[in-house]
Amino acid sequence: MAYRGRFAPSPTGLLHAGSLVAALASWLDARAHGGAWLVRIEDIDTPRCLPGAGQAILAQLAACGLRPDETPCWQSTRAPAYAEALRQLRAGGFAYDCGCTRKDIELYWLQRGVPHEVGAERIYPGTCRPGPGGGLHGRPSRAVRFRAEGVLEWTDRRIGTQQQDVPVAVGDFVLHRADGLWAYQLAVVVDDAAQGITDVVRGEDLADNTARQIVLQLALGLPTPRYLHTPLVLAADGRKLSKQNGARPLDLAGDATVLRTLQAAGTVLGLPALPAGTLADWLAVAVRAWAGIIAAFPPSADPP
Ligand code: GLU
Repeated sequence: MAYRGRFAPSPTGLLHAGSLVAALASWLDARAHGGAWLVRIEDIDTPRCLPGAGQAILAQLAACGLRPDETPCWQSTRAPAYAEALRQLRAGGFAYDCGCTRKDIELYWLQRGVPHEVGAERIYPGTCRPGPGGGLHGRPSRAVRFRAEGVLEWTDRRIGTQQQDVPVAVGDFVLHRADGLWAYQLAVVVDDAAQGITDVVRGEDLADNTARQIVLQLALGLPTPRYLHTPLVLAADGRKLSKQNGARPLDLAGDATVLRTLQAAGTVLGLPALPAGTLADWLAVAVRAWAGIIAAFPPSADPP
């Protein structure tokens, strides 16, 4: 199948040194495979989106010579497709209404002596799962959840075989949120399939979401793309670089700055220092260097 890759930024801010690594890796991988590179602006979490950031990200990518091969997809226009997928999941018995509040879930675990871990999301205990003793019990539905079953194994092209016991690790996850917004997991799966994506290349912080996305693909009868999770740029506090811990929008003023910025992103991906000619020259050399890097990935995960 012809390679189709994508970069899928959330426009909650402009591109910074960390997000550029994912953008560059997905672009290099598409070009190294002679494939198409698409951009999807993931603007569904509207309260967190910054007005104008989607267009600004596209302009930042263009300044780096990274231009999508097709018109970018905006998730804010895709609600009918998400609603149709949810209908299918309900019809197949994979999704159910949940009336629990955050407080209900917290209380459930506290009553069982499970303390709250700072920063960790509580696993949904399955209170509203249809079945004996479960269900809404006349309460209004707030969210729709996916009924998670079983252990899922998948292979990443770089980090190898991964396993997640989805019910234990993440539980019955949300597809449609209590605030009426579509959940990332559902939207990403529906759109990767609609855009015919064969290869997902993104930061390693998202590797943990992959099992949830694959179980959704299986439930919806959609193909599973190959996955490659790239190394992350870390902030001074050792955590993934993000707006919250000091990431600043990329400075892309002038050719020399753009090349320096790309070179820094390339270093995170394992590219050697490359001769800096024009931007087009740098990108062409980078594609060849990337082809060498991926050739050394674990053989079991070789892309066809
Ligand atoms: N929109 C997500 C983010 O910016 C990335 C989604 C993906 O690549 O699957 O973190």
